[in-house]
Amino acid sequence: MNKVICPYCKKEAKWCENKEVYGQNYGESYMCYHCKKCGAYVGCHENSRRALGSLANKELRDWRKKAHLIVDQHWQFGKHTRKEVYAILKEAFGKDVHIAETRTWTECAEIIKRTIEIFNQDSKIEL
Ligand SMILES: [Zn+2]
Repeated sequence: MNKVICPYCKKEAKWCENKEVYGQNYGESYMCYHCKKCGAYVGCHENSRRALGSLANKELRDWRKKAHLIVDQHWQFGKHTRKEVYAILKEAFGKDVHIAETRTWTECAEIIKRTIEIFNQDSKIEL
């Protein structure tokens, strides 16, 4: 079984229902990895033990959400498909861009900045 280690305190995160985080289970896929010590967590794919990304604390989760808002609008409301948007970002960064795998808020900020530059339009969403 894969161990998921908290990147903040280096302790093993517990695989648990997300009611431990929210007080009640939230969403259809409610299993997550949670570090009790620092409150970092990450959801899992369809209640499996496969994490959606790396554990994130509140600050990083907020930044990931912002990055998703900025990036996703281009395939949700724009003229690109999701695949195209991520292909364009991959080209710009020289590697695959996975918001859920970002480790620091500065990585998210960079994704946001480059996305706005690349798509050459002001974001419709206020940061
Ligand atoms: Zn921790």
